[in-house]
Amino acid sequence: MKTAFITGITGQDGSYLAELLLAKGYEVHGLLRRSSSFSTGRLDHLYVDPHEADEKGVRLFLHYGDLTDSSRLVTLLSRIRPDEVYHLGAQSHVRVSFDEPEFTGDTTGLGTIRLLEAIRMIGLDTRFYQASSSEMFGATPPPQDESTPFHPRSPYGAAKVYGYWAARNYREAYGMYAVNGILFNHESPRRGETFVTRKIARAAARIATGLEQHLYLGNLDAVRDWGFAPEYVEGMWRMLQADAPSDYVLATGTAYTVGDFVRLCFDHAGLDWTDHVRFDERYLRPSEVDALIGDATKARDVLGWTPRTYTPELARVMVDAELVAIEGPTATVTPLPVLGFERPALAS
Ligand code: NDP
Ligand code: GDP
Repeated sequence: MKTAFITGITGQDGSYLAELLLAKGYEVHGLLRRSSSFSTGRLDHLYVDPHEADEKGVRLFLHYGDLTDSSRLVTLLSRIRPDEVYHLGAQSHVRVSFDEPEFTGDTTGLGTIRLLEAIRMIGLDTRFYQASSSEMFGATPPPQDESTPFHPRSPYGAAKVYGYWAARNYREAYGMYAVNGILFNHESPRRGETFVTRKIARAAARIATGLEQHLYLGNLDAVRDWGFAPEYVEGMWRMLQADAPSDYVLATGTAYTVGDFVRLCFDHAGLDWTDHVRFDERYLRPSEVDALIGDATKARDVLGWTPRTYTPELARVMVDAELVAIEGPTATVTPLPVLGFERPALAS
């Protein structure tokens, strides 16, 4: 049985990845920040109380720790000795990174080097996945691939560039199996509520069911390449199974504006978006990333990874999940996209 360690396991990607790895028979360990209220909502359906475990036992373990706490990372990793480390933990919100630039640099940037250094100090023979981001490309025009120069436009993007080069450097300096997955935006019903796709899908469902009247947004012209998160975590796993470590873009290669996503969600909810969407300058960023459109040819050719769900279907799935959350299973929903692997639960 392989053992994996996931930072950011309570997040969108961490929860889908934990699900995927458990389904593949892994023992999964995750880093959990202590908080005054539960932060494990995305994992509840996977959790098995050790007191109530059946003969199959428990294969998901959560450990308190923080990416700012190096000694804890060392003690944890030396005890778990994972075969694979998936480093997904980060302050991951671009707008928030302008408010908390130092904290973002500490967790999102330095957190990566703390983890890499812990692995090196212990002498672990582990494979390491770094959650790099299309935000690193920032102002460089699309299409973007693995050789596109970085020009980050936020403290978050800058911190991710640092993490990217840290992973590359540990590969080159110490021969570590370290890979960068340069992932373009990927969404799902489990996406954080303040990211634009979830915010729009949630508002469309709430307005359609009479719970709200208006949605306030910033820049509707930004172009993004939105894919479906469960497919992207499967790509992460593929990256760590390759013979040699390398860096890969995962993207759909398609372009939609934020305004397009609004229209897709509101149309699906049977609403005219112009009646409900209003502008609020608070949601503008000091510097914007105008257009991200990825070229995932390398991932297709080397890993056999291709996206299956594109933005219009994603918007429908996300609105439907919100309607189910409000109205229960009787809500009318469209059939779900076909995945090449077992579909994860839609629960958020
Ligand atoms: P989320 O914001 O949903 O999850 C972030 C995770 O990091 C949460 O589990 C969070 O814990 C944890 N975390 C934050 N700070 C710390 C800390 N100091 N110590 C330990 N854990 C911490 O992100 P996603 O799942 O969407 O993304 C996963 C990774 O991929 C992130 O690194 C993100 O930047 C990157 N990425 C995401 C993309 C996307 O479109 N989703 C695109 C490209 C890259 P808690 O639950 O306690 O807050
Ligand atoms: P990002 O690509 O990682 O910044 O993901 P987000 O989902 O946070 O933002 C995607 C795009 O939507 C950015 O260009 C934002 O400027 C734009 N946007 C417009 N209005 C909003 C809003 O109200 N919230 C967020 N999060 N983004 C918005």
